[in-house]
Amino acid sequence: MIIGVPKEIKPDEYRVGMLPVGVEDLVRAGHKVVMEAGAGFSSGISDHEYLRAGAEIVPSGRDVYETADLIVKVKEPQPSEIAYLRPGQVIFSFFHFAADRNLTEQFLASDAVAVAYETLQDDRGRLPLLTPMSEVAGRMSIQEGAKYLERPQMGRGVLLGGVTGVAPAHVVILGGGVVGSNAAKMAAGLGASVAVLDIDLDRLRYLSDVLPPNCAVLYSDRYTIREQLRQADLVIGAVLVPGARAPRLIQEEDLQRMPPGCVIVDVAIDQGGCCATSRPTTHAQPIYLVNDIVHYCVTNIPGAVPRTSTPALCHATLPWVKRLADLGVERGAQEFRELARAVNIYRGEITHPNVAQAFDLPY
Ligand code: NAD
Repeated sequence: MIIGVPKEIKPDEYRVGMLPVGVEDLVRAGHKVVMEAGAGFSSGISDHEYLRAGAEIVPSGRDVYETADLIVKVKEPQPSEIAYLRPGQVIFSFFHFAADRNLTEQFLASDAVAVAYETLQDDRGRLPLLTPMSEVAGRMSIQEGAKYLERPQMGRGVLLGGVTGVAPAHVVILGGGVVGSNAAKMAAGLGASVAVLDIDLDRLRYLSDVLPPNCAVLYSDRYTIREQLRQADLVIGAVLVPGARAPRLIQEEDLQRMPPGCVIVDVAIDQGGCCATSRPTTHAQPIYLVNDIVHYCVTNIPGAVPRTSTPALCHATLPWVKRLADLGVERGAQEFRELARAVNIYRGEITHPNVAQAFDLPY
């Protein structure tokens, strides 16, 4: 099979979908890998390294889409890339369809196949391709939140850890999964007072065992969310219902009761966001204010640290790229339930129930 890896063109996206070791493995297995020139540059990987691993380098993204049967990338295809898609071509990438009706409709019209990293789910409900990026985003959410809490950055002017004789900041984390637990560890490590809220009691039990004493673990209901928001300096939105639009846990009226200058880092923005006033932003312009509350809603947070994120993502994706290349998407989905769950759109039809439900479309 011919596998193609284009350069990412989403604004401020510096990751790439494959490492040279991935090229080497695929070529050894009898496949051909076509890379766009400069695709790995921002992740610190030269064309020469890909060439040495056995890839063919082509000058443009268009060449990659025209040649390859399977496209391996990082972020959802941008409008100019959608125009290149061919009927039956398989795209293995993050998509987050439920948050983007336009993307969903355009992809449906392309007659291509979308295999989504974010819904590749094992029998225990884990999301092995989302997890490494959630680890990065969870850790970065505290770094970014701490920055925007600074007064010159529009924040309340609070230091996360406080100092001797002065109380630390209060960090409220909605959702205690991978993003939430990584954010909690970082915030706790910096000395903040942390509250993690989730609706999964087993998860809460686990978190209360493993998190340090400056983390309170709370059941997420409307009352507790409201109480916590009143005291928050920094809020991290980290909820997920796989494939579906994120539940809206922060209503517009809640903002009036939050301390002015409080920062919301809505990591769940890629699935539509868990705050009613969240809208997608970019690394170039990451924040905006609503009622004096700083909103940080970057949809590709890990894209800013590609030398960490690219290897973390590719370590997880490569075994699945190999399965797709060896078996094709149809046999792959028959043999591996994880892959079947990852197929969100198959040649003009939505094949994931949560994506269909997000738009009231037939499934
Ligand atoms: P996860 O499945 O590990 O955790 C989600 C948690 O949310 C679960 O523990 C679940 O029980 C909890 N939850 C669901 N509904 C809830 C509710 N009503 N109240 C409280 N908790 C609730 O998911 P994750 O890997 O941590 O990802 C979280 C979100 O972050 C996803 O939308 C993911 O796509 C997103 N993400 C965004 C970026 C970015 O760059 N913006 C990067 C990585 C991940």
